[in-house]
Amino acid sequence: MLRIGLAMLQGARHEHIEALMHASKEIGVEIEIIELRKGSQIDSEISALILPGGESTTMRKASQSESLLDGIFDWMDKFPNRPVLGTCAGAILLSNPSEQREPYISAQISRNAWGRQRQSFEAQLHIELDTPDSSPTDELELRRDNFNHKPLKISHEAAVGDQDSYPGVFIRAPRFLNESIGCSVVAKLDDEAVGILDGMKLALTFHPELTLDRRFHRWLIANAKNNFS
Ligand code: GLN
Repeated sequence: MLRIGLAMLQGARHEHIEALMHASKEIGVEIEIIELRKGSQIDSEISALILPGGESTTMRKASQSESLLDGIFDWMDKFPNRPVLGTCAGAILLSNPSEQREPYISAQISRNAWGRQRQSFEAQLHIELDTPDSSPTDELELRRDNFNHKPLKISHEAAVGDQDSYPGVFIRAPRFLNESIGCSVVAKLDDEAVGILDGMKLALTFHPELTLDRRFHRWLIANAKNNFS
């Protein structure tokens, strides 16, 4: 069974768990989700990682006592071909891991660049990323309200994109600095890059775990399977 690590730092962790469980059913690959709280939990059996959203400064501080981020970055240095999905603050950490480390994606990012919390928004995105298709699953016994979180107001149809579009949810999101992008753009809002892929590092400034479209989580699991050896 593939072991997928999820940094339990802050933010929408439970939604990532739900999204991973759905995605694993959608492509028929069994996974075990490892909730990472300490650097010492990270070993060579982890085949892929998710860095969730949250407040990146808080995440950096919170991880210090148990060296979680350091453990994660060491793992990324050791296994550059294993996929990592960084969403929102997770994308910030990929672009700007720490003073002592080189960026994991060759794009610079500016924090909170859309404005304040109340300027958070939803928008349809254009996607160019190869992801395995989802085969229909019996509409899952797992439901968003398992976690007592209020669902987004968007309808089911709006919450699942078609092949090229994707419902983007931006919460006090960062922005990539245009001039610095040296990797492939996989998600665009109008003409602006909001998702980039650099090797096996996928950095999204929005929150795919808050929608019902699991293609980015399917991408992670499929590449974990392909690249784990
Ligand atoms: N504003 C946060 C930061 O700068 C990111 C927000 C998010 O992850 N939703 O770290």
